[in-house]
Amino acid sequence: MFYIGCHLSSSAGFLAMGQTALSLGATTFQFFTRNPRGSRAKAIDPDDVSAFLAFQKANGIGTLIAHAPYTINPCSADQRTREFARETMADDLQRMEYLPGNLYNFHPGSHTGQGMERGIALIAETLNAILSEGQRTTVLLETMTGKGTEIGGRFEELREILDRVTLSHRVGVCLDTCHVSDAGYDIAGDPDGVLTAFDKAVGLTRLRAVHVNDSLNPVGARKDRHARIGQGYLGREAFGRIINHPALRELPFVLETPNELPGYAAEIALLKEMRR
Ligand code: FE
Ligand code: FE
Ligand code: ZN
Repeated sequence: MFYIGCHLSSSAGFLAMGQTALSLGATTFQFFTRNPRGSRAKAIDPDDVSAFLAFQKANGIGTLIAHAPYTINPCSADQRTREFARETMADDLQRMEYLPGNLYNFHPGSHTGQGMERGIALIAETLNAILSEGQRTTVLLETMTGKGTEIGGRFEELREILDRVTLSHRVGVCLDTCHVSDAGYDIAGDPDGVLTAFDKAVGLTRLRAVHVNDSLNPVGARKDRHARIGQGYLGREAFGRIINHPALRELPFVLETPNELPGYAAEIALLKEMRR
């Protein structure tokens, strides 16, 4: 099964997202757990969730990716900022239990000048505070570009976070193709080499999802500007190699390209066409 989808607005609820996904030809989707600016989350509507779960089952929609607001920073130098990240993530994980078995992706954060070591320790501390043995959600560290003081631009940094997490079997990694390319890994030209490096540093079994984005900038640029598939430096052919790669092909793939819904439908159709 090819699990391919895109980022959708969660403003109309889960059933609406499922219906939109289906109309786009998607078999999975991603959504923000709350306004991306990190405001208060809407309460979960149990009727909407149960209607969605039935719809998901009936239509073969696979594992979903919930995305934490990208403004939280669990490794900020500012304690209030760190507490806010922790509270937000803990609350998100609690609400994710209404839809057990899915993925919760977050940006590891920026150390804001404290240094990589301290940043990594703070991220692990956050995870140790919010993870619980009984939870049914897998938390994902997203691979980042490494711009500024961002953590997660090197695979080894993700490994170091995982090494410090007690319930690390509840944690995985989401590989963002734009981010890894911007970070200096040539995922377009040498996917085998990049995935071998990932395997050595982190372990391929940790890989649980892929963000499929082209990049407006060349390898190593550290800019994080997503492009439509085939309209950036990775190029259209690279995505054929990525979605069919034996180490990736069973994972959910989600587009975060600059698109409205018709553009997403076209990219989903294109990737389905390239799927072998
Ligand atoms: Fe992200
Ligand atoms: Fe991403
Ligand atoms: Zn990005």
